[in-house]
Amino acid sequence: MGYTKQDVIRMVQEEDVEFIRLQFTDIFGTFKNIAITASQLERALDNKCMFDGSSIEGFVRIEESDMYLHPDLDTFVIFPWRPQQGKVARLICDIYRQDGTIFEGDPRYVLKRVVKEAEEMGYQFDVGPECEFFLYHTDDNGQPTTITHEKAGYFDLGPVDLGENARRDMVLTLETMGFEIESSHHEMAPAQHEIDFRYDDALKTADNIMTFKLTVKTIAKRHGLHATFMPKPKTGINGSGMHINMSLSRDGKNIFADPDDEVGLSREAYYFIGGLMKHIRCMTAITNPLVNSYKRLVPGFEAPVYVAWSAHNRSPLIRIPSIRTEGTRIELRCPDPSSNPYLVLAVCLAAGLDGIKNQIMPPAKVERNIFEMTDAERAELGIATLPENLLDAIEAMESDDFICQVLGKHITDNYCRAKRSEWAEYSRNVTEWELEQYLYRI
Ligand code: GLN
Ligand code: MG
Ligand code: MG
Ligand code: MG
Repeated sequence: MGYTKQDVIRMVQEEDVEFIRLQFTDIFGTFKNIAITASQLERALDNKCMFDGSSIEGFVRIEESDMYLHPDLDTFVIFPWRPQQGKVARLICDIYRQDGTIFEGDPRYVLKRVVKEAEEMGYQFDVGPECEFFLYHTDDNGQPTTITHEKAGYFDLGPVDLGENARRDMVLTLETMGFEIESSHHEMAPAQHEIDFRYDDALKTADNIMTFKLTVKTIAKRHGLHATFMPKPKTGINGSGMHINMSLSRDGKNIFADPDDEVGLSREAYYFIGGLMKHIRCMTAITNPLVNSYKRLVPGFEAPVYVAWSAHNRSPLIRIPSIRTEGTRIELRCPDPSSNPYLVLAVCLAAGLDGIKNQIMPPAKVERNIFEMTDAERAELGIATLPENLLDAIEAMESDDFICQVLGKHITDNYCRAKRSEWAEYSRNVTEWELEQYLYRI
């Protein structure tokens, strides 16, 4: 484990790598990169490559715009889909200011800071994501559509599905890049797929999610398809989630497991759930960042709506998958794949640790189907709902000092400003739905 500078230089030479992409993620979860040729590699490895931060939304003002990229050597990987002579490799970078201080608007830094806090408490935080996406056709100009000719559904077997070939290619490509793919399957909706890769520590997993999305999009394109991680591309069918499976270990031992407990969970696991449930409404703007995200969080499509947890049932926000002992984990089902994985994992871990530190017991688990309860029954059990739209989510986030502190002032301010303006723009828009409802009738 751990590449040295010399390792990276050697790999670039031996593998005939010509271009290196220096990658980072902006606060909204968009992967950015600058490309350098191999001749500039040593400069890059000496942290001397810079970019203009003022052109990245939500980063910095013009006056302080020079940002330096510090490559994380362990993220070196060669893109298998580029030419095999004159190859293209990448390094994921941390972002620093000109004066050598870390840039607090870098989402990777936010996650690293919370991970460090967990380490100081003696914990390692592992995460396994379940990313769902749609594969749609492109039109004659190569533009994405929401058209698919596919009729396959959950776990269906090919050859019904054209996307099947693309998914196979995605899995093989990801494996070449070092991913361990645990499973992949067709999801509920036509043209909807899921590929699950093995859990890892939080930072590695966040990096992996970014690389995963890039790879899935790239390979889809090769098959003439468009891969979208948009949470709810179509009304009336399932949207795409990114369930997050979390566990804490100490000295290599999973500390969420307790065989003597009624459902096999330790005190720490209960507190972690308690912390998540306490903060979840105030972190939803991070886990579900788009206007469109809230069209997924509605009843009837296997996505969560109510703040509750269960050991068996699949409908709640938090579920405990049936596996116990070393595999014991907490599955949070609200995040969607349009979110920034660094920020998502940072707020999830911070909320969970807050639960442990303050011994926050979660309310009793709910094994009944919450969607079938009446409002009165839910109220009696104290079951809250997730924010109904992006505006509610932003307001909730701004009201939680704890979450704002985890994100830091720079990210909180820029994020909320951008999301408020996204909401304002959407609200002013006259939609197809309104025309259908009112144009004729009113
Ligand atoms: N697509 C569902 C969601 O929005 C999840 C479906 C599943 O994995 N069972 O979260
Ligand atoms: Mg799954
Ligand atoms: Mg799924
Ligand atoms: Mg799941």
